[in-house]
Amino acid sequence: MKENPISPTIPLDQDGVHHGFLKLPYSRDDSAWGSVMIPLTVIRNGEGPTALLTGANHGDEYEGPIALQELAANTKAEDVTGRLIIVPAFNYPAFRAGTRTSPIDRGNMNRSFPGRPDGTVTEKIADYFQRTLLPLADVAVDFHSGGKTLDFVPFAAAHILDDKTTEEACFSAMKAFNAPYSVQLLEIDSAGMYDTAVEEMGKVLVTTELGGGGSSSARSNAIAKKGLRNVLIHFGILQGQKQIDPTVSLSMPDDDCFIFSQGAGLFEIMKDLGEPVAKGDLVARVWPVDRTGEAPAEYRAGRDGLLISRHFPGLIQAGDCAAVIGVTGD
Ligand SMILES: [Zn+2]
Repeated sequence: MKENPISPTIPLDQDGVHHGFLKLPYSRDDSAWGSVMIPLTVIRNGEGPTALLTGANHGDEYEGPIALQELAANTKAEDVTGRLIIVPAFNYPAFRAGTRTSPIDRGNMNRSFPGRPDGTVTEKIADYFQRTLLPLADVAVDFHSGGKTLDFVPFAAAHILDDKTTEEACFSAMKAFNAPYSVQLLEIDSAGMYDTAVEEMGKVLVTTELGGGGSSSARSNAIAKKGLRNVLIHFGILQGQKQIDPTVSLSMPDDDCFIFSQGAGLFEIMKDLGEPVAKGDLVARVWPVDRTGEAPAEYRAGRDGLLISRHFPGLIQAGDCAAVIGVTGD
């Protein structure tokens, strides 16, 4: 396979704190010999595990970038055993544009794996993670939230895997993250996901959905920072005591957890995040936007559980995810 064109401006394997960039050549109208400069911090101190830490896999999700900026700015080499590779904005062009996907190629980073060394900008970044950074890592923490179009109860998540050793390590790391909710996650479509790339390599993945709506809150940022520190202590990379608070265990056993809108309109959520719902309960209504006097479309819960996610903007389109129900219990 071709060599990836990305080069780090700092060493990945030397002791100390190094701040730099992943430099990706990108020739374009406003910069003939220009590059995309993805901020990168590597902090290494002797032998030990490596954590690969990413935010803004989707460019409009902010808890990860904030927690990772703080970690990169405040961590000294002597605080670390092993290595931290910190990339606060994984899909950097998307992050700069404040959009889910890249404005350069519309690439959704979490649908672009394993990537291509000779593909689009997004595919080149994915390929660099797939073939260069991930092989260095023992654990990957990839922060997500709902972005502009979803909002979530704050949770850390892990997937059911064929490889039970990796699955157990992922669930144990999710518990260490200790978000207010812990979810055994079912993906709508796992093909092309970074999560899948990490897990297929037999590495531990912790992923999250910490809020949404296109910004972050004091609470969601505090959850991100605590969880990150807890996971790094869990792997022995940082020292200290984990802060463990109560968490609600949830699963998403099948497609009945998802409610999709079948029409466009004015979105009315009927339950708030974290509220219990029973099978058959009215969860959302969609009103016409262009006339009065008509009944709304009704969307009901397909199972008992808690409302863990909802559509965020006030208007909804056909096919949008209106709500997600998580099932309580391990
Ligand atoms: Zn995301």
